[in-house]
Amino acid sequence: MEKSIEQIHDDALREIEAATDDETLKQIAVRFLGRKGAVTGYLRSISQLPPDQRPAAGKRANEVKKLLEAAIEAARGRIAQAAARAGGDIDVSLPGRPARAGSLHPVTRVNNEICTIFSRLGFDIAEGPEIESDYYNFEALNFPPHHPARDMQDTFFVSEAVVLRTHTSPLQVRVMERTQPPVKVIAPGKVYRCDSDLTHSPVFHQVEGLLVDSNVSFGDLKGTLTTFIHQLFDKQIKLRFRPSFFPFTEPSAEVDIMCVICRGRGCRVCSHTGWLEILGSGMVHPAVLENVSYDTSRYSGFAFGVGVERLAMLKYGIDDIRRFFENDMRFLSQF
Ligand SMILES: [Zn+2]
Repeated sequence: MEKSIEQIHDDALREIEAATDDETLKQIAVRFLGRKGAVTGYLRSISQLPPDQRPAAGKRANEVKKLLEAAIEAARGRIAQAAARAGGDIDVSLPGRPARAGSLHPVTRVNNEICTIFSRLGFDIAEGPEIESDYYNFEALNFPPHHPARDMQDTFFVSEAVVLRTHTSPLQVRVMERTQPPVKVIAPGKVYRCDSDLTHSPVFHQVEGLLVDSNVSFGDLKGTLTTFIHQLFDKQIKLRFRPSFFPFTEPSAEVDIMCVICRGRGCRVCSHTGWLEILGSGMVHPAVLENVSYDTSRYSGFAFGVGVERLAMLKYGIDDIRRFFENDMRFLSQF
């Protein structure tokens, strides 16, 4: 007998621990546990031992066989883990996945632009509740109860005395109640009307403007709105003021701008008139100023309200207001 079973055991373990790949392990298994392997050879040679030593030698040889099989299996796991750690399945040289930046909603963009233009002109920005009392939404703005002018706006009623605000004009009253002239403020926000079609949505955005000071004239209103439109679109856009009626302004004017699509030549968007109606405005009615205890012999002011969706549709050439609320990524990702 050339080698003792303990020597075979130690030699095999040393080789198994040193192995770094599956192929080497396979060869070790063949050399020690195969049909012509060292352990198998030793088992065969037991018959040559004296009879009293055979049982113990055979038992130990079978133990060693099992130990080596387990050691090879453990080594196979160790080699597989090392390969995974080395990045065998991951190509670290591949470029990373780019993070897609989102973009602002077109209504938000135009709203921000309007706020920026008026901030530069020295206007503060005010915000107020969307659920409003009848007093602020109507009465303080010179809409007496049962006045037919209330029918101009299709109102959502929460209760008899509480409404979803139909315009941002209630902010005029709230701001004037807490400040003394000069007042120079814009109020952007959501408003609600019971109306829905291609150009009307039950929820839309308005920006209200209010300026009250001594010696404020209609000329100041014209100058302010002209500057606003020229900055939002361009300096070639003409404006025209048409007499109109709102309970809270006197005199009142609707403001049209030269059609920004056809530049005044006439097209489908402007119904071939060359003009687009975009905002309502006027000098603040003395009754509104009296409601907040302003001295109407000293102070006068102007107010205006503009729909943000309407301006966004014109600025980006969008023909259906519902696009703004459908959350279609194909539409939104264009901005
Ligand atoms: Zn046109």
